[in-house]
Amino acid sequence: MSEARTVVIGAGIVGVCCAAYLQRQGRRVVVVDRLPPGEATSFGNAGSISWSSCVPIAVPGLLPKVPGWLLRRDGPLTIRWRYLPRLAPWLWRFIRAGRPDRLEASSAAMAALHGPSLDLYRSLARDAGIADLVRSTGYLHVYTRSRPDRAEEIQWRLVARHGGAIEVLNGSELRALEPHLSDRYVQAVHIRDQGYAANPGRLVKGLARHVASGGAEFLRREVIGFDLSGDRVRALRTDGAPIEAREVVIAAGAWSVRLTRMLGFSVPLDTERGYHVTLEDPGVKVRHTIMETERKFVATPMEMGLRFAGTVELAGIDAAPDYRRAEAILRGAERMFPGLRADPHTKWMGRRPSLPDGLPVIGPSPRQSNVYLAFGHAHTGLVGAPNTGRLVAGMVARTPLNIDPAPYRPERF
Ligand SMILES: Cc1cc2nc3c(=O)[nH]c(=O)nc-3n(C[C@H](O)[C@H](O)[C@H](O)COP(=O)(O)OP(=O)(O)OC[C@H]3O[C@@H](n4cnc5c(N)ncnc54)[C@H](O)[C@@H]3O)c2cc1C
Repeated sequence: MSEARTVVIGAGIVGVCCAAYLQRQGRRVVVVDRLPPGEATSFGNAGSISWSSCVPIAVPGLLPKVPGWLLRRDGPLTIRWRYLPRLAPWLWRFIRAGRPDRLEASSAAMAALHGPSLDLYRSLARDAGIADLVRSTGYLHVYTRSRPDRAEEIQWRLVARHGGAIEVLNGSELRALEPHLSDRYVQAVHIRDQGYAANPGRLVKGLARHVASGGAEFLRREVIGFDLSGDRVRALRTDGAPIEAREVVIAAGAWSVRLTRMLGFSVPLDTERGYHVTLEDPGVKVRHTIMETERKFVATPMEMGLRFAGTVELAGIDAAPDYRRAEAILRGAERMFPGLRADPHTKWMGRRPSLPDGLPVIGPSPRQSNVYLAFGHAHTGLVGAPNTGRLVAGMVARTPLNIDPAPYRPERF
């Protein structure tokens, strides 16, 4: 059995950021994952570090759009109907989270978590020798119509209040910024001074390598249980040797609730699956991260090509990928950029770990005195990871916290 240290379960972006800040607090850290760092959801996301993202998905005005989306094979949302009975309680909570009073509070909490994200990444990436991966750019949301609907009005009001300055562009102003975009787009909202990761998978691996060079240990194992002593976890049971733990951080993304159940409690975590296509040689130049607001995917100029990533599939964690969803994104991308060269391209599916109110859980376990939770970052896990790491490290080391952790507490459900 290895010596007692702070053990982080999960080597995605959230777990690796927790490890980085725990190490800065002087903790000896072990990160355990059945996969190498950055190979699950954190591998293939859209890379957006839009620190102004502060609007949960459930906003008033969203529900009336849902039936139309579900009727389209290539729509931005799909539900596998066989999964609906298990999903229903989550969906009900999701709908209720969009009530105006709750929305205001969730939005403020997202803004507090995301605000310092780009600065924190710049510092982490510089220390890790991968500063080239964290890039600055504006974030464009492009529209094929000039009148925002109710959900969009609410979204932009919240961003203006809690996030950043927004600028409305007409079609020709938009094409001055992005000349290859289709002239179907007649309006855009531009949020300046945002950022993106030019290769989200390499970002996690680079940060992990740096944390390892500072003495952290990365173990390739699956956690299958816990040994308890009173209200404390004493050791993790794994598919290899057990790992003794002084504290445990659960940062296992969409799989986290399987671990909390082993500890005797649950949170309403489900999975919003999403897809990407990455085009190696797209034949068009893109300078910003661009949200296609009809199909709900983001175009990002990555180091390995142009990536289009997004949409939501509610099908549970274990269902096989349906790559027709990725092909639908590709067709949308071709409409977005006439002249796009689709081949060669890669396809990918990832599992967003989502709680109904769009906020993660970050905080001490309701049951064990040495377990901390850090999961459920849904659509904004890349943006939320560094400040989550900072918060968790502050909680473990009992040092002053940089933001009020109350909105993220696990007991809120
Ligand atoms: C299509 C798509 C686009 C997205 N775009 C963006 C974006 O532009 N910006 C943004 O901020 N976010 C985006 N996201 C969301 C973001 O990718 C996620 O919120 C984030 O990656 C979650 O990170 P994580 O570390 O919590 O989980 P993961 O990266 O999934 O890591 C969890 C790790 O835990 C490990 N694990 C689980 N259970 C066990 C166990 N029992 N034993 C050992 N290891 C275990 C897994 O192997 C995995 O490596 C997007 C997501 C998708 C799907």
